[in-house]
Amino acid sequence: MKNHNDKILLDRSRFSIHAWILKHDIKNEKGDLIEFTKHLFLYDIYRDPSPQIVCMKAAQIGFSTLAILRNIYDAWSMCMEIIYTLPTDHDAAAFVSGKVDRIIANNPILCDYVADKDSMEQKAIGKSRIYFKGTHTKKAAITITADRLVHDEKDSSKLDVIADYQSRLQHSKYKQTHMFSHPSLPEMGIHADWLKSDQKKWLITCPHCNYNQYLSWNTEDPSKMSIDIEQKVFVCKKCQGVIDDKTRATGQWKAKYPERLISGYWIPLLIAPWVSAAEIVDKYQDPNTTPEFFYTKVLGLPYADGTAKLLREHFIQNLTGKLWAPETNERIVIGVDTGKKIDYVVGNMNGIFNYGNCENYDKLDELMKRWPRAIAVVDQGGDFIGRTMFYKRWSGRVFLCALTGDRMTKELVSWKKGDENGAVTADRNRMIQFVIDHFREKRIPIHGNENEWYEYWLDWNNLSKMKVLDPDTNQVKGYKFIRNGRDHLALATVFWMVGMQRFAGTGSIYYSESDRPVPNSYLENPDQTVSFNPEQMFDNLDPYDANANLDATLKNPDEEPWWIEEEEERD
Ligand SMILES: [Zn+2]
Repeated sequence: MKNHNDKILLDRSRFSIHAWILKHDIKNEKGDLIEFTKHLFLYDIYRDPSPQIVCMKAAQIGFSTLAILRNIYDAWSMCMEIIYTLPTDHDAAAFVSGKVDRIIANNPILCDYVADKDSMEQKAIGKSRIYFKGTHTKKAAITITADRLVHDEKDSSKLDVIADYQSRLQHSKYKQTHMFSHPSLPEMGIHADWLKSDQKKWLITCPHCNYNQYLSWNTEDPSKMSIDIEQKVFVCKKCQGVIDDKTRATGQWKAKYPERLISGYWIPLLIAPWVSAAEIVDKYQDPNTTPEFFYTKVLGLPYADGTAKLLREHFIQNLTGKLWAPETNERIVIGVDTGKKIDYVVGNMNGIFNYGNCENYDKLDELMKRWPRAIAVVDQGGDFIGRTMFYKRWSGRVFLCALTGDRMTKELVSWKKGDENGAVTADRNRMIQFVIDHFREKRIPIHGNENEWYEYWLDWNNLSKMKVLDPDTNQVKGYKFIRNGRDHLALATVFWMVGMQRFAGTGSIYYSESDRPVPNSYLENPDQTVSFNPEQMFDNLDPYDANANLDATLKNPDEEPWWIEEEEERD
């Protein structure tokens, strides 16, 4: 029997996904009714109309069901053409057969909308289509035009392929991009997107003291810790009173930067009311849980150990705070990266004392004149004419260096003899790692203060070590440093280090043994497992500090990273 309210509901199902879910008793892939009592934090995301949505999330929060229902609904109700990407073709096929097809089969209304039920690559929904694509396969350029791009598991996808997809939106009136993923490294992938967003966090209110707070994890500081590890319960960060599941369920999203256009959600497993504190604590204490896993899949936060990136704290410990230059009769090494501009780094065994970039080789000629014993190691890649002239002008003092991919030899650097005099090759990824390790071990004095070396540091900040995945199996094949911005001064430093290897004895740079700190990151074994003691790792290393230095705090030194900021009191 239909009453007046049902009628309104019927009318609204064309415009409201929530009315539609209710009207058609929509079920998930397991056949359970979609409900929002426990999944309230997903409610707003279902209907968020922002053209750009970013969700930095933990694993297992019911997100794929949301993504499938929302995209089918929008394709149908707004006639949107949608491209939905997953890391590989295999992932896309498994997603369609394991999730999409099962949700369609469980809901008669979806069976009505979907014409080509058997296709793995695309589904016709009413007048529109959803295309399911992998990002790791080398295929001819995609010619489909789309109104919305959905990038699922972005941080395991090929980021350059995802960037190429943007052009597919050119002719759309919607031009929407939805991205979600568990994070990987700080300032990469989904975390980089999140930082540009309005940064919404799920705020709950303590039933005991009314304090508004978001749920977080910090074993060092009880004022930032939402779980009592001993009791295995959620607690208020202010009054330590127990937080029940209903309180966790009934929070609300609050944006840190409401004026920003990109709508961003941070979804840690802590806010899922069906996951207990005991389950989180067990995960944390499980010896098989790596810190990386706990961070990215449970807390939904990016994670970097010191080897994946040159962390700011590892860089600034090398700063001497004073300007310095060697005598003009000393040997110095100039590392040069050539491209649109010429980027250079100058130093010797007492450290690096100068860097810069220039349009032509005049500046480098000046350095070569001023230090008659200077040698230069120049990138063989870019700018053929300029560097050939420079090489001829300073015969015997300029070496052309090619950075190669993973080499089978054990040598980091190899100097050619005979006809190839003046040529050298170096293993790019291992050499970048080598320089980062030197900074981490405080072995490269940098003469000056942080202000003077800020631009230089930014180039390093754009380089991160990423896993190389096999396109067919998605298994880790190796590691590679990739850049997400300018990296020329970092590469100039790599060329400088190549020169130091040969012209400063054994490549060791001066440092005093007592200054050398013990690295606190774990070691990676050749089989890509890690050796570490989780207790030592978690007890000695404040997990929030491990990443804090990578936050935008660099630009706003007074501002604390968003995940450790002070919370607002309830109005
Ligand atoms: Zn409280």
